[in-house]
Amino acid sequence: LAVLPPWRRASAATSPYDLIVVGAGTAGMPLAIMAAESGSRVLVIEKSPVAGGTLDRAAGQTSAAGSIVQARKGISDTPQDHYSDIMRITQHAADPALTRLWTAHAAETVNWLISLGLDYPSTMPVVGGHEPYLIPRAQTPLGGGGTLWRTLEPLFAKSVASQKVRVQYNSRAVALLQDSKGAVVGVVVSGENGKRQDVYGRKVVLTSGGCMANQRMFEELHGSPLYYQSGYPFNEGDGLLLGLAAGGFLRGGDRYCPLLAMAMEDDRIPGFPVGQLDVHADRRPPWEIWVNARGERFVPEDSPSPHQKERALGWQPGHRMWAIHDHLAMEVFPSPIRTWSKEKYIDAFSSNPMFVKADTLQELSIRSGLHPAGLATSIQSYNESLARGTPDRLGRAHRPKPISKPPYYAIRLQGYTLMSFAGLAVDHDLRVIRQDGIPIPNLYAAGEVIGATATGGSGYCNGSMITPALTFGRLLGRRLGKIDV
Ligand SMILES: Cc1cc2nc3c(=O)[nH]c(=O)nc-3n(C[C@H](O)[C@H](O)[C@H](O)COP(=O)(O)OP(=O)(O)OC[C@H]3O[C@@H](n4cnc5c(N)ncnc54)[C@H](O)[C@@H]3O)c2cc1C
Repeated sequence: LAVLPPWRRASAATSPYDLIVVGAGTAGMPLAIMAAESGSRVLVIEKSPVAGGTLDRAAGQTSAAGSIVQARKGISDTPQDHYSDIMRITQHAADPALTRLWTAHAAETVNWLISLGLDYPSTMPVVGGHEPYLIPRAQTPLGGGGTLWRTLEPLFAKSVASQKVRVQYNSRAVALLQDSKGAVVGVVVSGENGKRQDVYGRKVVLTSGGCMANQRMFEELHGSPLYYQSGYPFNEGDGLLLGLAAGGFLRGGDRYCPLLAMAMEDDRIPGFPVGQLDVHADRRPPWEIWVNARGERFVPEDSPSPHQKERALGWQPGHRMWAIHDHLAMEVFPSPIRTWSKEKYIDAFSSNPMFVKADTLQELSIRSGLHPAGLATSIQSYNESLARGTPDRLGRAHRPKPISKPPYYAIRLQGYTLMSFAGLAVDHDLRVIRQDGIPIPNLYAAGEVIGATATGGSGYCNGSMITPALTFGRLLGRRLGKIDV
């Protein structure tokens, strides 16, 4: 990437395209579709052999206030309420201007998807395992992100077939061309055969996703290893580097927060997940305790707030926690790993090195990598306050049984994420900006390349990635095309 000197000068005089879109994914597809509808000459550069990016593998959660889905259920909601809810959940860590922008237009996006044939069976305060909104406004189509992809990709393909959009697959944007004043005038593309080509356009939009396929970059930007590589394999952070080389800057990595408790195949990084602890107290009131590597409890395990628990895990060494219980719990309770049968759970203690069973707490600690004295103290204190009927040290209310009957069990669980929190700084018009706040002429960005922090803060709100990616794509497509909004 950026083999060319970043300050390479070029002439914009002969721009054959109105718009060059770098990445045909969640944000790039609607962008190209909208711009083409307005009569613009659009070129899409796509590194992989197909359009769609991360959409196909995503859960497909979106959220919007004032959508048709809510109207069908008689739910009254406003973009202002949606915005305030996100700010409440993220403790004001999301970018206010960008959050206002996507929440203001999210219903248009959801209604557009419905007009294209997508069906949402329901809308809820929360889907999946995130912090609930105060008003039902989160929804997933049957079939998840794959259904979103199957809705949008044919429309994108139609724009290509009708020659409104030109797309170059297996082609990677490797540098931005700038004129003598620093305005972006085109892109250097490395094509299928490795041949480089300069293409010129009036505007360039980076929709190339985050850096979830680039372990080294992820770790540098977030101060945490990429424990689980779940993202689209072509998203190596190219757009972040292109924007940086053009004069932009990155923000948001310091707000990284892990999701809770993935059971992994072994201790390799990135690792392969085998199951997830059911951490939702309303669904499964916890009967185990959670400790960090020092053997210390760090959060009330039965807290109803996923965000509180995620943030607490974010402060623990290696974003790692162990769920500990005794044999009595093993006899009485079902598997705590979601979707696992009890038999599969019992079997894991003889087949997976992350699941450890031992006759004493000392042996359990040593074999599972926990501080023995720390774990012994935590269990003693938990059992004593339960026996005395005094409040739990961390405020946990649900304490069904002491942890005292050997053998003992420990599951090592990993915090992880699905998206890059760090991204290119943009202003409220999605223009890539320099550190002094001045926009780089002709350069825009949308989707995960602007970082998850921009639209979802330091945590996970339902739909706070896909909805803004689609919405910003639509908005930019219309604004940079010839239709006024
Ligand atoms: C497993 C999983 C589940 C998720 N579930 C949800 C969810 O339910 N709700 C939600 O809101 N968010 C979810 N997310 C996050 C969300 O899916 C992504 O943040 C979003 O889809 C990213 O959209 P994008 O347009 O930025 O990137 P993408 O959709 O990934 O598109 C980027 C495109 O750019 C291309 N590209 C990359 N580099 C270059 C280059 N140099 N030149 C040309 N092309 C390039 C890529 O090949 C790709 O096609 C999930 C993420 C994962 C991994």
